[in-house]
Amino acid sequence: MKLENFPDEIRHFLMPKHKGNLVYRCLGCGKEHGIENLLYTCPDCGKVLLIHDLNFDHLKSISGEKWQNIFDYRKMLKIPALKGIYLFHEFIGPVIPLSSIIYLGEGHTPIIEANSLLQEKVGMKFFFKNDGQNPSASFKDRGMASALSYINYLVKDKHLSDILAICASTGDTSASAALYAAYLQPNIKSAVLLPHKKVTPQQLSQPLGSGACVFEIPGVFDDCMKIVESLSERYNVALLNSKNAWRILGQESYSYEIAQNFEYDMRNKVVIVPIGNAGNITAVLNGFIKFYETGIIDILPKIIGVQSKHANPVCNYYSEPDNKKRRFIPVNVRPSVAQAAMIGNPVSMPRVIHLVKKYINLAGEDSISFVEVTEQDIIDCQIAANRNGHIACTHGGECLAGLFVAIKKGLVSKTDTAILDSTAHALKFSGFQNMYFENKFPSEYEILPNKALINNPVLINPDELSKVPIPGKHLNESDFKIFVISISDQIANALDLKER
Ligand SMILES: *Cc1c(COP(=O)(O)O)cnc(C)c1O
Ligand SMILES: [Zn+2]
Repeated sequence: MKLENFPDEIRHFLMPKHKGNLVYRCLGCGKEHGIENLLYTCPDCGKVLLIHDLNFDHLKSISGEKWQNIFDYRKMLKIPALKGIYLFHEFIGPVIPLSSIIYLGEGHTPIIEANSLLQEKVGMKFFFKNDGQNPSASFKDRGMASALSYINYLVKDKHLSDILAICASTGDTSASAALYAAYLQPNIKSAVLLPHKKVTPQQLSQPLGSGACVFEIPGVFDDCMKIVESLSERYNVALLNSKNAWRILGQESYSYEIAQNFEYDMRNKVVIVPIGNAGNITAVLNGFIKFYETGIIDILPKIIGVQSKHANPVCNYYSEPDNKKRRFIPVNVRPSVAQAAMIGNPVSMPRVIHLVKKYINLAGEDSISFVEVTEQDIIDCQIAANRNGHIACTHGGECLAGLFVAIKKGLVSKTDTAILDSTAHALKFSGFQNMYFENKFPSEYEILPNKALINNPVLINPDELSKVPIPGKHLNESDFKIFVISISDQIANALDLKER
């Protein structure tokens, strides 16, 4: 709809006008630093940062109800810069002019209710939010749209050039970074570091296809992370890991979309997210807090963070009930089908600790929980979900497995509604599905396929038929007739079809 056709009382608000005053705020010493330079850690104490808007309170001069109207009406505009995560511009990057925003179709991913079969099995109402339907097929695009829009602004406004964007990745960060950097040719180039043989073939093909320099490194993600950190400290590169607080800002859009989808009613809602480097849960918490503080939602949803037992440092930390005795200890990860979350030393742990305290202060002790799940349950749940019409990745399966544990532990009530994060597209992890169907998991995964969930193709190529079609060589008419009848009879037999 054209701007001039909106009702008078809303038209004035549709184009973002809020002037943000953004600073990096250190979670260690509390100092604030200007955003003119890209910072990843505090120059004074070395701890991680979050971006804070010093003018955030100005947003409260508009009522929560008015904001709801603004976002709902704004969805009807056809301005590309406001179609993705920047629909929530005032909350995400209110220093970035619309002309610098990159929109590649990220955000506003579908929220799909599970069918009645699956809801009965689980025992409550739940939805998957399909973040695999982002342009590079994972939620990482939300953070990249933010980080690269900001870098694009620096290029356009501050005349920076020859930027090399760099990241370490469990697969999806690099796919996303390479995609957005490719769009910003020739000013921005990208290089990605991947743990050798620890990402899926699809995830490896993505940055290669986008033209990034791809380096494979021995070890696991945590080792790659140390290398890019060293590069970003000693060389002039732009770090695109979630250590970069601009990534977190963009990923907050996930919470805003959930709020909008449920008409800003967060009563009895439970949001379930997988945790790897812990950037995603940081953003989800911060997003809901910001909407709560501005009255856009009047209640905070319950949050459940899920980890595999093979990569569970955050769960370990919170398993100590006495918060004074909690101590963070990195773990050595073991192989996991939730491969993008196979991280033993999450960079955002200090952010999680900070925001969990804040969330609990606002919403109560039982508003956040952390649960651990087995590899077996992760993949069983993924496959069960997809057999009921979903396109969940293994991490989506991890969320469903987490919901089962949460119900068992009484952390959620059967009258709640859960929203599960399927963080990537199922197709990125089809190799794990094959390993399951072919019963080929190496023993470290501790996965045995459930026979009822196995599905393999059946080759119908009857021995007694001497003549079958070969590409490029047609059968003669009578041989072809014999072939068609014989094969269709065998299929009918296999499917137990009744004759007409
Ligand atoms: C990155 C990623 C995660 C983990 O998110 P963090 O922000 O690292 O906790 C989970 N699932 C997928 C598909 C991912 O790409
Ligand atoms: Zn500091």
